[in-house]
Amino acid sequence: MIDMDGVIADFEKEFLRRWKKFHPDKPAVEYPDRRGFWLINQYPEEFHEYVKEIYLSPGFYENLPPIEGAIEALREMENISEYNFFICTAPMLPKFENCVLEKYYWVKRYLGDEWIKRLIVTGDKTLVAGDILIDDKTKIKGKITPSWEHVVYDHPYNRDSDSARRLTWKNWREVLMI
Ligand SMILES: [Mg+2]
Repeated sequence: MIDMDGVIADFEKEFLRRWKKFHPDKPAVEYPDRRGFWLINQYPEEFHEYVKEIYLSPGFYENLPPIEGAIEALREMENISEYNFFICTAPMLPKFENCVLEKYYWVKRYLGDEWIKRLIVTGDKTLVAGDILIDDKTKIKGKITPSWEHVVYDHPYNRDSDSARRLTWKNWREVLMI
């Protein structure tokens, strides 16, 4: 299973682009300087409403650029018959209004109808069975002990973590030994 934001859809890049566009007067956190999973926590409290305004606005999720190499990697996965690949994404809660529908549009646009059938939207990824979950979040909690191995999609903001295997779309075949 493959997570969406921060793994195939570039949430950070689109946020930063919009932040600089709409708030050129305010400090921005560049991608290499990102620390900690939640982007909002690197911005001063007084700007939090502006930060949320960007990622909750209509069109934000639909217009996330793909992460470099992601679409190509998923296309390759279509040809690997030993495994079933799914996208497993958590919606923005409680403000799901734009995010959920736009995630479907995004998958349709970049990956096509076949992948829409493989899109799992859930608030609890531990309940979804699988061998591996590729996710950029380091602590994935839920109701049960997950059946999958968590493989971290590497970013500057998640290197504070543990012993989990890490990959990017440059080395995924080596790391997963596919
Ligand atoms: Mg993610």
